[in-house]
Amino acid sequence: MNQTKYIFVTGGVTSSLGKGIIAASLAKLLQARGYRTTIQKFDPYLNVDPGTLNPYEHGECYVTDDGAETDLDLGHYERFLNVPTSQANNVTTGRIYLSVIEKERRGEFLGKTVQVVPHITNEIKDRMQLLGQSGDYDIVITEIGGTVGDIESLPYIESVRQLVWDLGENNAIVIHLTLVPFLAAAGELKTKPTQHSVKTLMESGIKADILVCRTEHELSQEIRSKLALFCNVKKEAVIQSIDASTIYEVPNLMLEEGLDVVALKKLDLPKKAAPDLKNWNTFLKRLKSPKHTVNIGLIGKYVEMQDCYKSILEAFIHAGAANETKVNVVSIHSEYIDEENIADKFKDIDAILVAPGFGERGIEGKIAAVRYARENKMPFFGICLGMQMSVIEYSRNVVGLAEANSTEMNSDTPNPVVNLMESQKNVTEKGGTMRLGAWKCEIKPDTLAHRIYGQTTISERHRHRYEYNNEYLDVLQKAGLKASGVNPDTGLVEIVEIEDHPFFIGVQYHPEYKSTVANPHPLFVNFVAAAVKAKKK
Ligand code: GLN
Repeated sequence: MNQTKYIFVTGGVTSSLGKGIIAASLAKLLQARGYRTTIQKFDPYLNVDPGTLNPYEHGECYVTDDGAETDLDLGHYERFLNVPTSQANNVTTGRIYLSVIEKERRGEFLGKTVQVVPHITNEIKDRMQLLGQSGDYDIVITEIGGTVGDIESLPYIESVRQLVWDLGENNAIVIHLTLVPFLAAAGELKTKPTQHSVKTLMESGIKADILVCRTEHELSQEIRSKLALFCNVKKEAVIQSIDASTIYEVPNLMLEEGLDVVALKKLDLPKKAAPDLKNWNTFLKRLKSPKHTVNIGLIGKYVEMQDCYKSILEAFIHAGAANETKVNVVSIHSEYIDEENIADKFKDIDAILVAPGFGERGIEGKIAAVRYARENKMPFFGICLGMQMSVIEYSRNVVGLAEANSTEMNSDTPNPVVNLMESQKNVTEKGGTMRLGAWKCEIKPDTLAHRIYGQTTISERHRHRYEYNNEYLDVLQKAGLKASGVNPDTGLVEIVEIEDHPFFIGVQYHPEYKSTVANPHPLFVNFVAAAVKAKKK
């Protein structure tokens, strides 16, 4: 096949309808039918990428192999498709404008007045076709962030209109995701918001080909007919998306509704084989009928908002299914943990994960949590800042360096066991300047890390500015904190562990970004297994 086909996904009525999950589910079905499919997301905000955003604003910042700081929906794409995404899969309005303005400064517009139409829209259209032109994909699904009718989405909507026109009807289609609310007082589902939303899309010249209707109740045939008639779509193109108990159920729900078949028909593509979801359904079965339950304490400072630790929570779902275990992640705010109350806070906890993070707030609580896990032989897993905290805790309480710290928290510490990386010392700009993306790590034989990975060379994704200070390597290793994984080129310590402990491991990188349904991350799988074992005892 030479013509890449495009599916655009827009959202109406309200935000948070789950466009990312619908896009990922459709992509999963198309992939399972044998189509090479990818997903990209266009976000309407002016930040060049979400890397500079506070997690409370926009949830977790997801990091790709090529070091892009991206929207958390890319995490869903990878978890569903098991195919890595890259910088090209996430574009913001900020990035579009930056690129156009840089071209203007270079004089590339030859004296023309630079305008939203055509210059911004052309840039958007080019970016929308970038992955399609690589020849790697049969189908590219493009999720447009925001809600139709928003001022900031307009250039994207106009670009979609033009692209559908440029490419021709059978090569590009639009799926509109809307809400069909249930009014309890009237006892009915209401179609009007959807009608209005489709109309708003029409005002911008776009006709929705397929409606995906989020609903809490089944859509009757009557409602489906009504939506079809008033929204100008075939009845088979009215797709119900009812609330599911887990996001991993949605591909099956979309399969039952025929979303993939309708999309392929509109794109003039053969159905090929029925989607092969065997492994996916095995995962679902294990997820839904667990044999054990464990409580894992997630120690962090953004615990009020689930989205801040999205990939960690999803990695626990994958690892839980792999262990036939229900993992209850118990969020514990690090700011409110101290040596006094810790035993009480952890009384029902089987294992402890100390989360990534930035800045001073809540770090003493994290250090107390590491100590508790170490002394009580509770399974411990530290990620990024969590690993750095385990180095500080060991230095203070085992080596005896009472004031050991990270220079991120105390620039005057006499024992900077975690230090700003050399390569970061002259960095002044904030956006995209951390140590980002995939780096190699060599694992030492006869270590917990080696038993977990079963290999000596691994590659994991990073997002940090501070590192284990190698000046303390000897003293820490002699005292029992082993550096079991090291970057082969720079000598940077990537993994630390304690031998005399059932399960104690800290990693400088973010394994959660690489956990997928098809490939649950071995660190999470082994950590959950250790929690199950600890609970039995
Ligand atoms: N703040 C730490 C650093 O920059 C850890 C970062 C993180 O946990 N992602 O090194």
